[in-house]
Amino acid sequence: MTKAIQLKRDGVFSNFSGSEHYDLIIIGSGLSGLSSGLMWLKNTSGMKTLIIEQNSYPGGYSTAYERDGYVFETTQLFPDIIDILDYLEIDIELKRFDKNFMRRLVVDGDQVDEYQIPAGAENFTKYLVKKFPDDADKITSLMDYSVDMFKQVRKLKANATLGDTLATPFKAPKVIANLSRTYSGLLDKFKITDPKLREVLETFTSFSGVPSDRASAILATGAMLSSMTRCFRPYDFFDEFPARLAEKFQSLGGELRFNAEVEKIVVDNGTVTGVRIKGDENMIKADKVITTVDPMLALKKLVGEEHLTEKYIQKLDNIIMSPSSINVALGLDDKIDMTKLDLDYPYNVVSTGLGTAEKLFDGFLAGDHAFSEDCFHAAVICPSLTTGAKNTITIRSTPWALSNWKDMRENDYKKYVAEKEKWADFLIDIAEKYFIPNLRKHIVVKDISTPATYARYSGSPTGSIYDMASLVTQFGPKRLSMKTPIKNLYQPKFAHGLYGTMMNGVQVVDLLLNRKFNNGNSLFAPNKA
Ligand SMILES: Cc1cc2nc3c(=O)[nH]c(=O)nc-3n(C[C@H](O)[C@H](O)[C@H](O)COP(=O)(O)OP(=O)(O)OC[C@H]3O[C@@H](n4cnc5c(N)ncnc54)[C@H](O)[C@@H]3O)c2cc1C
Repeated sequence: MTKAIQLKRDGVFSNFSGSEHYDLIIIGSGLSGLSSGLMWLKNTSGMKTLIIEQNSYPGGYSTAYERDGYVFETTQLFPDIIDILDYLEIDIELKRFDKNFMRRLVVDGDQVDEYQIPAGAENFTKYLVKKFPDDADKITSLMDYSVDMFKQVRKLKANATLGDTLATPFKAPKVIANLSRTYSGLLDKFKITDPKLREVLETFTSFSGVPSDRASAILATGAMLSSMTRCFRPYDFFDEFPARLAEKFQSLGGELRFNAEVEKIVVDNGTVTGVRIKGDENMIKADKVITTVDPMLALKKLVGEEHLTEKYIQKLDNIIMSPSSINVALGLDDKIDMTKLDLDYPYNVVSTGLGTAEKLFDGFLAGDHAFSEDCFHAAVICPSLTTGAKNTITIRSTPWALSNWKDMRENDYKKYVAEKEKWADFLIDIAEKYFIPNLRKHIVVKDISTPATYARYSGSPTGSIYDMASLVTQFGPKRLSMKTPIKNLYQPKFAHGLYGTMMNGVQVVDLLLNRKFNNGNSLFAPNKA
């Protein structure tokens, strides 16, 4: 018996009281907004707090939805957030992937190399040493160094003071040494030259949607170690997670208003005074505002360039937002036995060989894409193996630019549909060839998301799925600061991904409370000095 459909997101309703003034308004009920609201209410008392969301449900990019009797999910896994969930007293049943982390196929003409990457850094090291015995010493040195560097990241402070900055070289010398290093630079440092080994290791930079010669070594290492050592997903559909956060927020006295698009962040004399909602006559006043929407939308459009300095506008203009994506979600009949297909990994990834990520990213930077039969990167995920619902798979591909997807959708819908069907076919071919024989025969429902879909649901002008691209040139202190040039307007965009967004909430609230909650720590460690 398959599980019945019951989306939790549809059980969360607006509880907006209609007040004219709030202590804090948060724009967006994605995970950054929900985390910010929850951390704030857990650490303050009696504060009037409102989250405003343009969609009719919470979760933003992390959600689930139904199409013709099948449930599809947007996100697929998160690294360890158990401490945060405990702190927030949110009880959610999670599946831990403690054996396998990734099935990785690398295609070179007719040859396909397969790697079954185990969970856990030590197991991964052992696995690589076995596969690449000639490089055993280099692999061990790289992994030891990586583990040590990641430990040092935990010692860093967010929104660093001068004192913190001066102390960092002593507390975290490896972090300082790698601040400007790319992931491929890190592999060079350990003299890892075997293209096959590099290809496997560089898989982890694709988490941040950028190639390893541009990705930050620290970030890629952090993504690799945190997700492969403790990797989870809910047993229920993915919308359960934001729904639980939203309900908790409301139970702590927070107000949520859905179907309300903020069209203006109101600024008076350099200070934020509230927000204006599309269609509302009066503004809602606020002492403080946190925006969790795309920074280009928030600063350039909702605030307006007239309130920003030339220097800040230039900084915004220089930022490269992350790529967009094409995802194909498929509902399959019950004649196919998904348990027999070796798909129960957080990720099943297939790509062409070394250099693919660079070529694809260059295509995106040129404003389009570089996908072809000789150059691709795709992930196939099978959520129904965990949820127990009717058979579903999702085929994900990135990087894509928004290009003319939005324009086609709005002005030539027939062409838009033809184009998205073409690329869905391309991705289904890949999934069928490498992971699911005869896949096409079993397709009952097909739902295709394009860059236009992501732009529409998130409000991002570029349809970016990972906020500011995680390039080494815009990592750490080089990212846009949480304090905006507008007084009392904050923008927590520490990192992307479900862990990163929960951390956005931790850090912005710690900033608002002068470190009285998380002691300035860059990661969640409320009791550590
Ligand atoms: C297809 C896909 C798969 C992913 N898979 C994973 C994964 O498996 N693991 C992982 O860690 N990360 C994953 N990510 C990344 C992760 O989902 C995001 O980093 C994270 O959810 C972003 O949360 P956020 O709250 O910062 O932003 P968003 O989720 O974008 O939330 C912003 C919210 O603001 C609202 N909004 C925008 N404009 C306005 C306005 N003017 N007025 C009112 N409301 C507004 C939007 O509707 C949205 O709800 C994935 C992303 C995508 C798109």
